[in-house]
Amino acid sequence: MKVVVDQDTCVASGQCVLAAADVFDQRDEDGIVVLLDENPPARLAEDVRQAAAICPALAIRIEE
Ligand code: SF4
Repeated sequence: MKVVVDQDTCVASGQCVLAAADVFDQRDEDGIVVLLDENPPARLAEDVRQAAAICPALAIRIEE
């Protein structure tokens, strides 16, 4: 699994961090998403898919 985020699209809602805190974080200054791990381990795959599904800005893309 490869994860790609679009910081220009992100609206800083923080949903992805709630779903997968090992993979996503937010910038301190404005809350925009920061990708911590672009190749997360299989045990986190479901959480990452959930994060992509609930992101209100559709700013998370997953390449399998
Ligand atoms: S859920 Fe989407 S919009 Fe919200 S912080 Fe994460 S990437 Fe940005």
